[in-house]
Amino acid sequence: MLNIRRLVSLPVIHAAGFLLIQQEACSMPPVDDAVLKQAIAWRHTIHQHPELSNREVHTAQLVAAALTEMGYVVHSGIGHTGVVAVLQGGKPGPVVAARADMDALPVTEQNDLPFRSVVKTDYLGQQVGVAHACGHDIHTSVLLGVAALLAKQRPSLAGTVKLIFQGAEEGPPPGERGGAELMLEQGALDNPRPQAIFALHSFPDLQVGEVGYSAGPAFAASDQFSLTIKGRPAHGAYPQLSRDPIVTAAAIVSSWQSIVARNVNPLDEAVLTVGMIRGGTRYNIIPATVELQGTVRTLSGDVQALMERRMRDMTAGITAAYDSTFTFEYQKNNPATINNIALANWAVPHLAEAVGSAHVKELPPTMGAEDFAFFAQVVPGFYFRLGVHKPGTETGGLHTPTFRGDDSAIAIGIQSMSGLLLSYLHTKPTVRQHPG
Ligand SMILES: [Zn+2]
Ligand SMILES: [Zn+2]
Repeated sequence: MLNIRRLVSLPVIHAAGFLLIQQEACSMPPVDDAVLKQAIAWRHTIHQHPELSNREVHTAQLVAAALTEMGYVVHSGIGHTGVVAVLQGGKPGPVVAARADMDALPVTEQNDLPFRSVVKTDYLGQQVGVAHACGHDIHTSVLLGVAALLAKQRPSLAGTVKLIFQGAEEGPPPGERGGAELMLEQGALDNPRPQAIFALHSFPDLQVGEVGYSAGPAFAASDQFSLTIKGRPAHGAYPQLSRDPIVTAAAIVSSWQSIVARNVNPLDEAVLTVGMIRGGTRYNIIPATVELQGTVRTLSGDVQALMERRMRDMTAGITAAYDSTFTFEYQKNNPATINNIALANWAVPHLAEAVGSAHVKELPPTMGAEDFAFFAQVVPGFYFRLGVHKPGTETGGLHTPTFRGDDSAIAIGIQSMSGLLLSYLHTKPTVRQHPG
């Protein structure tokens, strides 16, 4: 397992080593200058005009227009704003896919980028800033750059490339559907069905020039729960008349933590976070109800089922003990993103060809979530991380106002993704989908 902190704490040695390794180990030609320039220009436009999930109308128009001009067969409006583009090469061969996400977040950008966003919009009744705080502007422009490179090589391409530009990766607004799951339902992986799919994500803990991956589980399943505890209200001075839902909630929150500590195998991963607790109106009134909301993250279906079952059982037992009742809703959002191990084993040497072997880092999985998981459930998938930290600059964390992916990551993104797609068409690996 890689120690990320140690890796980023040696910028000077690393930067010096990078040049050396670039000359020694990269067997791919550098990205075409005109393509790179255009991709960076697209990035600036998209970054400056961010759009929230399921609202990526102008971004999708830009993407569709660019792909049409390159000669792709383009289908728009898949899963609301998604764009699916197909390029059939001049020679027969397999079908391979890559996916980029296009949506931004309700975050007010705070950095010194000359093309930073000043866009504001209404989100759930509030005026908010909108920013590409998760780097999806980079992912979209990298995949457009890849599209341009491949289009230039069309006569010699042995097979078909399918490019998927997806909206609402961050999750659709309440009451709407969207994202990878809806695109799949609307045929994004049909006609033609790819034999493998790739995607990348900006990663601020890696420097520009580096890429990271996990073989097997890469991102967690993300579940969401909502619990309402129903007690009996009373004056704060007469608790004997109440069934205090605040005390019941406190007992439940504490007990739930023991599920991870005492029910889950210590060698398995699980997170249970109560992110919201709401109840009461005044200091001396015991309320009738308390509402809790939160998230559960797991890397395997068995642990996921165990978490839900134990949460329900404990809630039933504790509310009964406190003479109260409850309603509990448990919703599965994204499944875990599992990188196909055979595809990962095939991909790593090809990533090394693209960026230099010393720059390909095996990383532990994270408990964050990614809806690429839905695509990777259908066909073998490989999802890797793209370093976007430029030494000497403040990169900020994903989803924060100061997140700042560097333009120089775009060349590495194009190089690594086009390298994987071209190598796939060239080597035609046989990779079977993992069970379930
Ligand atoms: Zn995100
Ligand atoms: Zn993201």
